[in-house]
Amino acid sequence: MKSFDETLAMLLAAARERPHRASLELDLADSLGRIAAQSIASAIDVPAYDNSQMDGYAGRVAEMNLSSEPLPVSQRIPAGHPGAPLQPGTVARIFTGAPIPEGANAVIMQEQAVVSDDGRIRFTAPAEPGQNIRPRAGDIKKGQIVVQPGQRLSAADLGLCASIGVGRLTVVEPLAVGVFSSGDEIRQPGEALAPGQIYDSNRPMILGLARGLGCQVLDLGCLPDHAEITREKLSQAAASCDLIITCGGVSVGEEDHIKAAVAELGSLELWKIAIKPGKPFAFGRINQAVFMGLPGNPVAAWVTFVMLVRPYILAACGVANTDPQSVHLPAEFDWPKPDARQEYLRGWVNARGCLEVHPRQNSGVLSSVTECTGLIEIPARAPHKKGKLLRFIPYSALS
Ligand code: AMP
Ligand code: MG
Repeated sequence: MKSFDETLAMLLAAARERPHRASLELDLADSLGRIAAQSIASAIDVPAYDNSQMDGYAGRVAEMNLSSEPLPVSQRIPAGHPGAPLQPGTVARIFTGAPIPEGANAVIMQEQAVVSDDGRIRFTAPAEPGQNIRPRAGDIKKGQIVVQPGQRLSAADLGLCASIGVGRLTVVEPLAVGVFSSGDEIRQPGEALAPGQIYDSNRPMILGLARGLGCQVLDLGCLPDHAEITREKLSQAAASCDLIITCGGVSVGEEDHIKAAVAELGSLELWKIAIKPGKPFAFGRINQAVFMGLPGNPVAAWVTFVMLVRPYILAACGVANTDPQSVHLPAEFDWPKPDARQEYLRGWVNARGCLEVHPRQNSGVLSSVTECTGLIEIPARAPHKKGKLLRFIPYSALS
């Protein structure tokens, strides 16, 4: 059985050997979560001019600090309205974001200013050069790269692009991902359950995970436990999908037809890996499409998606670093009987900054995913003692 690391390396290699994806241009509003196809350099300085960080008075430090007499106000500069050069021996009334007038080198906030009856200003605190001034290019310099190709665009990235005047972005064409569930026992929400039947929890979950990664998803329905139909449906899906994901039907049972169908239609390159939950994970190809078979147990399907399918999808779209950002924290539990496979427990960080583990770790217990905030990695065959460090991967790093 391949280890987790070997499996991941194989999937990333498969993703990177695929032809470069086409790109498309989108408005900023439609670009959230997309992957940038080009770098973006700023054509301007941000801010484009020195401006005030406070509502207050702009003046010359020497005059504001040394003058024993209050200073007259020679002009008023609201945001969006550049003022005139500052007359010597005066200050300018200025507002947050307004351009600093030529000649001024500090702003004293209005809370440190007293307005006399005649309108002149006395300051209750001294000024330093540059005080309360946001300098030109303090955020971005003209020519600076603000977006790199392969970068997933966050809301803040969209804001940054807007701040340099960029309103459209060139992004990577999303992967077309088709999702099947499988099993004669599977029914859809809204249908009545006969004895022995269960609802299809995996398909909406996997579709949601793929959509969350920016994929163009295709809901391909539920495959019956039937060899011929399975072959037919997979073959059809290969014509329209970059990636076909199934769940269930990849165990050792004689009702598990998916592996055989993939092997007949294309190639099955991997089956069974050393992780828990998730052992029956399968990988193969059908014509141009890549196939990934996830286990049927919902937690196993979720774990294999976020730990293996996710990095594949991101890498196939040009993302360079697909490793989820994780931390090592002391765990407040013993794990005396580790598995021969690397384990992914569902858990959380408690108020003491230590890891705790969900009490029900069975791969059928999907509420163990929703009731936790991250995955705790237990290396294969490594008994864990309370107080020692373990790797914690927060769900936010897996989105
Ligand atoms: P299988 O690998 O097909 O034997 O499935 C393993 C377990 O996962 C069985 O208990 C199935 O009933 C269950 N399972 C398979 N597919 C789904 C699904 N789409 N939603 C919920 N449970 C499923
Ligand atoms: Mg099944």
